[in-house]
Amino acid sequence: MSATLPAVRRVVVIGGGIIGLSVALELTRRGRRVTVLEKEDRWAAHQTGHNSNVVHAGLYYKPGSFKARMSVAGNASMVDFARAHGVPVEVCGKLVVATSAAELPALRVLAERAEANGVPAKMITAAEALEYEPEVACVRALRVESTGIIDFAGICAAMVRLLEAAGADLRPGTPALGIRPGPTGGVEIATGREVLRADALVNCAGLQSDRVARLAGLSPRARIVPFRGEYYELRPERRHLVRGLIYPVPDPTLPFLGVHLTRMLDGSVHAGPNAVLALRREGYRWADVSARDLAEVARFPGAWRLARRYAFPTGLDEVRRSFSARRFAASLARLVPAVRPEDIVRHGSGVRAQALLPDGSLVDDFLIETAPNQVHVLNAPSPAATGALEIARYVADRMD
Ligand SMILES: Cc1cc2nc3c(=O)[nH]c(=O)nc-3n(C[C@H](O)[C@H](O)[C@H](O)COP(=O)(O)OP(=O)(O)OC[C@H]3O[C@@H](n4cnc5c(N)ncnc54)[C@H](O)[C@@H]3O)c2cc1C
Repeated sequence: MSATLPAVRRVVVIGGGIIGLSVALELTRRGRRVTVLEKEDRWAAHQTGHNSNVVHAGLYYKPGSFKARMSVAGNASMVDFARAHGVPVEVCGKLVVATSAAELPALRVLAERAEANGVPAKMITAAEALEYEPEVACVRALRVESTGIIDFAGICAAMVRLLEAAGADLRPGTPALGIRPGPTGGVEIATGREVLRADALVNCAGLQSDRVARLAGLSPRARIVPFRGEYYELRPERRHLVRGLIYPVPDPTLPFLGVHLTRMLDGSVHAGPNAVLALRREGYRWADVSARDLAEVARFPGAWRLARRYAFPTGLDEVRRSFSARRFAASLARLVPAVRPEDIVRHGSGVRAQALLPDGSLVDDFLIETAPNQVHVLNAPSPAATGALEIARYVADRMD
């Protein structure tokens, strides 16, 4: 029997973050000829290069959701990939700590979710928690074994090397500016310098993914809203306060995990991220403002509904904490009481691409939509870096 060629042979991937590069690698392995377009002149320039570098275990997510499935499987596949390709990774485990009796029911729910998702985790006493983290303050904790720390930018560099070796066409500094159906099928993608023809495209444009989908003729209901997460780090002489990863019990009504303490691979200890609305999609500071981005948010009814739900007091508290090291340190001191405002210094930020629906609800799960000759990754917030290789397999399956 003669082998059949895949129907889709030439694919353009838009976006050179961890999702785009993982998709490109998976498609290359399945025999496709792949071009990757990245508008910045370097890989992993946005979310992937500005995150907490944690390989999540998968305990927070609703059993059966994409997030649960892909983070649990991705935890293993990402660690394996790192080890196979010489990228630093350490499976150090983490503690989620209940700092008051009021947080215990939510901690128990997390423990149940961990069990339902097949994540190795156990409830431990305050005394047992002190054996892992001598400075922590808690009434009980959840010990999760499979959480790790990694270098996601290093993962992307390894993927780029593999793609180059496989003959993929990698184009940093090349934005996709226009997309239309090809005259004889497939798609055409204008980059400003030329028009590329392909059988199919995959949109992995992160903070710009809804705009790229609209360029391609789709009308996605969800809109990307950028939430900046700001980090501090502990001064070197105070690093001994934290041995591994210490997280609070998250507020189940909010989409983010709450500021936490994370020992990085180089021994430094990062604190954060918080969550404030960014005034530009790729706005890493308050001074980064885009009239276009703000006008788009203001015109979207979902943004006003979201504001009504979260602006007071949650949003306001987040903004106050963004301007005050004292407030930031106070949040950390709930986990590790010895942390004082003078112990922390600012350490950059990242911007999350979070999809928002017109009714003001945040899209909780990963969101991937298809159209003829197109796959669009429209919501891939945390833990999508952890689950990137699994998301890539899913996207490639959809193309098959
Ligand atoms: C503060 C923060 C902390 C996080 N912590 C973690 C964590 O610890 N663990 C975890 O698993 N996840 C974490 N995440 C989530 C994770 O970083 C993202 O889920 C992941 O990086 C998404 O990858 P991506 O490739 O979709 O997006 P990105 O990395 O943003 O890549 C998208 C790329 O598309 C490019 N692009 C956009 N438009 C175009 C265009 N028109 N043409 C060409 N290129 C274009 C952009 O320049 C960009 O490089 C965190 C995120 C943030 C912001």
